[in-house]
Amino acid sequence: MTTPKTTAVPTHVEEIKLANPGLGGVLLDEIRDPAISHISDDAEVLIKFHGSYQQEDRDQRQERKRAGQERAWQFMVRTKTPGGRLSAAQYLLADKLAGTYASDTLRVTVRQGIQFYGVGKANLKPLIKALNEHWITTYGACGDVARNVVSCPVADLLPGHDYNLQTLAQQISDRFLPDSTAYYELWLDGEKILADGRRVQVEPSRSESFYGPTYMPRKLKIAIGLPHDNCADLFTHDVALEAVIDGSALRGFNLVVGGGLGSTHGKAETFPRLGDRVGFLPVDAALEVIAAASAIYRDEGDRSNRRHARLKYILEERGVDWFRAALASRLGRELDAPVAVGAYDVHDHLGWQQQADGNWLVGVWVESGRIKDAGEHWVRTGLRAIVTAVSPEVRLTAQQNVVLAGISPADRPLVEALLAEHGMATAEGESGLRPLRRWAMACPSMPTCGLAVAEAERYIPELINALEDLGFGDERVWIRLSGCPNGCSRPPTAEIGIVGRSVGRYHVYVGGSFAGTRLARLYAPDVRIADLPDLLADLLTRWRAERSQGEAFGDWATRAGIGQGWHAE
Ligand code: SF4
Repeated sequence: MTTPKTTAVPTHVEEIKLANPGLGGVLLDEIRDPAISHISDDAEVLIKFHGSYQQEDRDQRQERKRAGQERAWQFMVRTKTPGGRLSAAQYLLADKLAGTYASDTLRVTVRQGIQFYGVGKANLKPLIKALNEHWITTYGACGDVARNVVSCPVADLLPGHDYNLQTLAQQISDRFLPDSTAYYELWLDGEKILADGRRVQVEPSRSESFYGPTYMPRKLKIAIGLPHDNCADLFTHDVALEAVIDGSALRGFNLVVGGGLGSTHGKAETFPRLGDRVGFLPVDAALEVIAAASAIYRDEGDRSNRRHARLKYILEERGVDWFRAALASRLGRELDAPVAVGAYDVHDHLGWQQQADGNWLVGVWVESGRIKDAGEHWVRTGLRAIVTAVSPEVRLTAQQNVVLAGISPADRPLVEALLAEHGMATAEGESGLRPLRRWAMACPSMPTCGLAVAEAERYIPELINALEDLGFGDERVWIRLSGCPNGCSRPPTAEIGIVGRSVGRYHVYVGGSFAGTRLARLYAPDVRIADLPDLLADLLTRWRAERSQGEAFGDWATRAGIGQGWHAE
């Protein structure tokens, strides 16, 4: 690898990475010190690479301050499960660990991982160790490295084709797992647990064959997506493979680079962006091409300004032709031109589908990805009962739902009975689920996320209730709400994106396409939370009056010229 080029002053995060080789250093000391309840800012940077964020319960902040107490420190732990795949035993373990070491809920993320919240510092090691003992890593789930690789959770199971994107997702994930053994030294007493169950002692090392000493300039998001089912939202990733399907065969991939969703309010130089197609590659070149594309980002990304560090800004400023040439120079050959693909669509994988092997899979709706028991919906207990009873494989979706797969025809009636018994919905009409609620998504935001400026997960049920009361519950419109412009629930590609601006205020964006091929535009800045339902109801009423037959909300909003740009004036 080449040394990252920079003429500007590196950020403090770059200095921290250099000063703590291989993500160890101060983090190891602070985690091992039982006398401290929370870790320093420098260690906080490093622990992200290990799959955890230091957080606090922000609901308690003022009261604790008045009482002269320190903040209610806690940690979030995120798993890295390529393509969202877990065995039944792994799911049951995660469920158990949530009760033992975390806040008694699991949260399915938009990158097909699981997040544990409310983990005390002393519980970090037992939690991470227990996960690893069952081959669930957290290494690289956060931080300036390749994050969990997103892929359709069910395509490999469905009939009519012979491709398996899940296997490729795992290979890509393995390729970009950091080499440094600091992770194993800190959480696993210096052991690595191999796929066959053997434990091997690691030889301490801090070197990184791909990343080098400073890792990536920022996060690297990788996805493999299908045009006819863009559940991976592939244009929002730094590097993505767009499957080119020929009949039932996978012909190859278009490489898509430069997508990303985050921005900063008031900073016009930051913006969401969809990735560009830069070339076509055969299936067996996937790992090599992704590595070369990622290396361009690693070496050319802006390490002097984290807001400007993502690959999308390189594409925006230097263009696709520059990237193609840079890629050719690293590969020693040019990629063919991108290949035309079919029409885009998306599926959230709810409901029953028969697999190619004759077994069944069923997608279960999970509100904002939070697996919990609440009211009449005992989703956590229900999932535990079903997984215990019939041992399905578990697949997490990028829409924050859960798919249970490999259910035999003989077991299907039992699963149906358990779903109904626990008030779980797999289709509209079940347990009160209607289209508007089915597609609504929200990020975690308050009270755990340190960047949140407005409510998201805790508010979205209320917003959907209000819109149902106003008569819009049966409309299929994709609403996504985030508590800040980092956009973790992907509002920039939503038909209606709602982004926290400050406490109780949101920017409202409209016009993303349902299948994730177009960005939303700013419709109304700084809307008070109390005004959101009526503002959305007015828009939905106008859409109903003006839409052509079958015209989706986002398509209508675009045709009608509603909304402009991303930033407020
Ligand atoms: Fe936190 Fe912002 Fe992400 Fe929501 S979008 S989880 S508030 S960083």
